[in-house]
Amino acid sequence: MKSLFTFACLFFGVIGTVPAQRICGTTDYKQALLRSNPSLNSIFQNIEKQIEAITHPANTRAMRDTTSNEIIHIPVVIHVLYKNDVENISDAQIQSQLDILNNDYNLLNADRANTPQPFKSIAGNARIQFCLARVDPRGRKTSGIERKYTSENYFTTDDGMKMVATGGTAAWDSKHYLNIWICKLSSRTLGYATPPGAAADMDGVVIAYDAFGTAGNLRPLFNKGRTATHEIGHWLGLIHVWGDNDCGDDLVNDTPTQSAYNFGCSTFPKLSKCSPNSNGDMFMNFMDFSDDACMNIFTIGQVRRMRALFAQNNLRNAFLASFACDSILATADPLTLTGAVSRPAISVDPIRVYPSPVQYSATIECKTATALTPKTMDLFNSVGMKVFTQKLLQEKTVLNLSVLVTGIYIVRIGEGGEKFTTRIIKQ
Ligand SMILES: [Zn+2]
Repeated sequence: MKSLFTFACLFFGVIGTVPAQRICGTTDYKQALLRSNPSLNSIFQNIEKQIEAITHPANTRAMRDTTSNEIIHIPVVIHVLYKNDVENISDAQIQSQLDILNNDYNLLNADRANTPQPFKSIAGNARIQFCLARVDPRGRKTSGIERKYTSENYFTTDDGMKMVATGGTAAWDSKHYLNIWICKLSSRTLGYATPPGAAADMDGVVIAYDAFGTAGNLRPLFNKGRTATHEIGHWLGLIHVWGDNDCGDDLVNDTPTQSAYNFGCSTFPKLSKCSPNSNGDMFMNFMDFSDDACMNIFTIGQVRRMRALFAQNNLRNAFLASFACDSILATADPLTLTGAVSRPAISVDPIRVYPSPVQYSATIECKTATALTPKTMDLFNSVGMKVFTQKLLQEKTVLNLSVLVTGIYIVRIGEGGEKFTTRIIKQ
């Protein structure tokens, strides 16, 4: 017996390892949070009540009114923690992950063609766009990528990567940014996410450096960026499709009941004792444990849950007012932090905004704005939050800005490809 055991160890140790299954740390992480802080339970339950109220079939009007069908923009900051060059993943690897997210969350993933026919009609388009943040919480221009050497050999699901004192980096304001930490994780854990309602300074997603994106030094079965798609699903309130229980409930109506998780690549139909019909498990759902190549769908019900978090007064509503994904900052100078810098207002005919700095009122001249063809003017603060909107109904509009706090503001006039932007300093 002993020799057989030794042989097995040698076999798997020298020749290879047992086939790797997806390991997601989120369920255990949430349980650990609740054990250390039982009061979180009522917070989680309140958020769940809000989600249920918004997604209830009788309440679709409220859903439309709060998040409508607009594209939700999520500025992302990537915290790369590395001890060696391999862990210091490239910008290209990071961008490859952003591309996957923007496909998977907009029903643009090419492999949606592999969704079995009976499930195709319930494929959901989350209409969520992710971008690397272009402005940091202090109003400075940023690449959206932070890199930091760490002396830690690896991190665990105890959130060490989120604190400077334990070799990590602190979160950016999680009301306005999705924080993603990239690091080496212990054992074979691919990633984990905070459930909605966890502490704001811990809020975000953690992904192993070798399971992030599609380019780079990646684990073969997890090299298509689906670990981040899955974990961000958790960050947006989804739980695993089998409800983390034998024939459990994932709180989504259109995902079939499953006995357990699936791994590897299953063949349709895959039936279990609790399958509601002959279609069986939705093993290709992003919230199952299949290999990256075999996941390709969120359902309409899952999308409703995710978008409900952005509804009025709900946890992630502040993202709706963010403009940190807007291309206007790509061409802007680095934003300065104080209002002490005197800078003439940029003047591009036919639009002028003056004076800058401004103390009380600013004048906007927009020759193409008339009562018949009004232009919309939006004013954003330095972290990208919209603070003011005004319809311009005539060539010259005077705005009272005396109530604004000191700082730099972005003025955006017009819509679509006709946008004019400039900055104005409030003193
Ligand atoms: Zn998971």
